Amino acid sequence: MNEDVPGKGGAGTSGDVAYRLCPRCLRAVPLHSREQYCVNDGARLLEGCPRCGEPITSPYAHFCARCGEALSFRVDNDADSYFRRST
Ligand SMILES: [Zn+2]
Ligand SMILES: [Zn+2]
Repeated sequence: MNEDVPGKGGAGTSGDVAYRLCPRCLRAVPLHSREQYCVNDGARLLEGCPRCGEPITSPYAHFCARCGEALSFRVDNDADSYFRRST
């Protein structure tokens, strides 16, 4: 028996796309892309919210849709640690 049972979901995965987001320049790449690091600045791309893990479903997202966490680096903290040189 080789019946072709129709699946429930089908092949269409509309509305199920997610993105990786660069925390530095907020550049988005599709999750199925092989990019792990931003080609602009070398920052490791976020696969989801750093706080709650919510996937990034919009390439224009700057904040988590679930908990409101900023998806970009805090410039103050980043600059602070950058200029804090250990002697
Ligand atoms: Zn970037
Ligand atoms: Zn979140």
